Amino acid sequence: MTEESVTRFTTCPLCEATCGLEIELHGDEVAKVRGDSEDVFSAGFICPKGASIGELHADPDRISAPLLRRDGELVEASWDEAFAAIEAKLAPIRESGDRNSTGIYLGNPNAHTLDGLIYLRALIKATGTRNIFSATSVDQLPKQISSASMFGTGLSIPIPDVDHTDHMLILGANPLASNGSLMTAPDMRGKLRAIRGRGGKVVVIDPRRTRTAEAADEHHPIRPGRDAHFLAALAHTIVTEGLAAPGDVAEHIDGLDEIGEVVAPFSPETVEEVCGIAAPEIRRIARELAAAPSAAVYARIGTTTQEFGTLASWLVDVLNALTGNLDRRGGVMFPLAAAAQTNASGAGGRGRGFEMGRWGTRVRGMPEAFGELPVACLADEITEPGEGRIRALVTVAGNPLVSTPNVGRLGDAFDQLDLLVSIDCYLNETTSRADVVLPVLSPLERSHYDLAFYQLAVRNVANYSPPVLPPPAAIEPEWRTMLRLAGLFAGAGAGVDVDAFDDMVALEVARRETVTDGSPAQGMEPAEVLEALGERRGPERILDLMLRCGPYGAGIAGRPGRGEGFALSLDELERNPHGIDLGPMQPRLPEMLRTASGKVELCPPAIVADLDRLSEAIGRDGDGMVLIGRRDLRSNNSWMHNVPHLVRGKDRCTMHVNPADAERLGLAAGGAAAVSSRAGSVVVPVEVTDAIMEGVVSIPHGWGHDAESARMGVAAATPGVNSNLLSDEMLVDAISGNAVLNGIPVAVAPA
Ligand code: SF4
Repeated sequence: MTEESVTRFTTCPLCEATCGLEIELHGDEVAKVRGDSEDVFSAGFICPKGASIGELHADPDRISAPLLRRDGELVEASWDEAFAAIEAKLAPIRESGDRNSTGIYLGNPNAHTLDGLIYLRALIKATGTRNIFSATSVDQLPKQISSASMFGTGLSIPIPDVDHTDHMLILGANPLASNGSLMTAPDMRGKLRAIRGRGGKVVVIDPRRTRTAEAADEHHPIRPGRDAHFLAALAHTIVTEGLAAPGDVAEHIDGLDEIGEVVAPFSPETVEEVCGIAAPEIRRIARELAAAPSAAVYARIGTTTQEFGTLASWLVDVLNALTGNLDRRGGVMFPLAAAAQTNASGAGGRGRGFEMGRWGTRVRGMPEAFGELPVACLADEITEPGEGRIRALVTVAGNPLVSTPNVGRLGDAFDQLDLLVSIDCYLNETTSRADVVLPVLSPLERSHYDLAFYQLAVRNVANYSPPVLPPPAAIEPEWRTMLRLAGLFAGAGAGVDVDAFDDMVALEVARRETVTDGSPAQGMEPAEVLEALGERRGPERILDLMLRCGPYGAGIAGRPGRGEGFALSLDELERNPHGIDLGPMQPRLPEMLRTASGKVELCPPAIVADLDRLSEAIGRDGDGMVLIGRRDLRSNNSWMHNVPHLVRGKDRCTMHVNPADAERLGLAAGGAAAVSSRAGSVVVPVEVTDAIMEGVVSIPHGWGHDAESARMGVAAATPGVNSNLLSDEMLVDAISGNAVLNGIPVAVAPA
């Protein structure tokens, strides 16, 4: 290390695993990135994406000033000019009085920023629109709906206790590539190895022999979109063979007696053909699951982005409950995060429950869930005339023209927008079409705390990271940009007082604490709460408040906190740069429930009613090809393909096809295939591999960086093809409206 070198520690914000990073700086340059061996959670684990964070920070293509469209070109402008331009274009739209004429699209990285998780709510509220869309409905929405229906809130997702389980059944998930998803767990390879090392077993159900499947004891290929049939047959076996043993939690569960009846049509013999897994194997897998001393069923994107996404998500937790693995060590449990944990706030054990469909999309009538509409309906809502038509769209950290279904049609719809404003770090396929682009700080220039993902973590931890590098004066912190934009939509004009607006946001968070049962701030005046927080402003002030009032909190204004053995505040986290370990997950039933009944709702009527559709699908499959996606360790949806280290080496945007299909279809390894669906067509390089089952082809998502207007030089050199030219906006999971990205019928031929 040279004299000028300094070492800083931060939490990686790039994916859900929340690894600790050790960053060696030479001046303002990142010289080396390693895993932080002292991090209380990741203990030195790092992946290629985290190791490339310095390259991402130094990327010359990152936007460094606001961009404004003048004479058809995006040119650099001052912040005042950019906001004045938005105000001018927004004026006639606002004058119409139709608040739904504004739409918002939120990309996945918002879940990884403090600014997004705290301040987007203010932006959404200021627009007053119901036209909110996000990457959630091309991802995990079905799991959130099934969890909210069963347990009361959308982030009450049972998380596998991977550190203690004896048996793990994994469906449609590839945690060795994703590093855990809806399961914050650094080093999943090590964790799966540990399960096997202590005599346990890992079973993977997936149309592909993924990296995870290769590390497992067993892999069973399954027809895409047929996981719910398989899971129902497991439940059927467990019930009919008398293997159900829910244990002590049974007293907190409603609907246990109904399960046998609702899964009755799905015996292993009935579904074996549709799944592609023989009935005796299904029975054996069910028996082993039931007999394991402890077990966790875990499913991810392959099971949520499909025709029966909500059913599959629900059946996962039906199995966890039937086998006695819900809410117990080695099974699946509910984390208790230090901040923002909605199922730990107020009086426990019961709540308002979950309601969706409070409004719907105008054109297709798809239901709202958690305040959002399915993004598969976005094009309709832009093109269909009438009240509520989206005329102005704001995208925040999103690239819907790569990431959402039928991007060909959505791209045409974008031509009809009167205003497109993007908050983003890159000029990508979407933002390069904007009227105004507002830049953001690099991940190393902003502070970080994982408000969302600690609620899904396999161990309770808390870790706050101040900025590694000083933010440049030319770029406003994202929270200030969001508030300034919110001010515009609220009619306060381009010159809104951001600091006063921030005080209002903080005051509202404080007000909620003052009326929350059990909060140390209960009964205080909101202004008194803010005063007790001192000089901090922006997200840090609100995070400090959440920590102090949270389950491990230090309390506020001399009032004791709720934390037994802990006294968390932001000061305390700053004193612990490697994080604070809050211990393993613990049983939380019934206290974490927020259902109206105060019980686990094992048979939510709206979900159970969808089983008829599941029955109807038996025997329906033809012998045509279907398309699925795939994940790569070096890729992160659409936005990290401009980092040279991550795209180096062999082309990863290829179509995987089984040797038997390749021969039948006349496809040659290294050649090209023409793939077409109802929505569109692509030509893609062919990779022949027996890792994929017959009848299925796979193309990874997030590629197709060939828009001339974009400014991502590295990505453009290896553009790949956009698999969402093939996904069909009309194919959705009926309950959630989540897009079907796995199991898309396609025709495949040599190109
Ligand atoms: S696994 Fe995720 S959090 Fe960990 S280093 Fe890689 S990208 Fe970062």
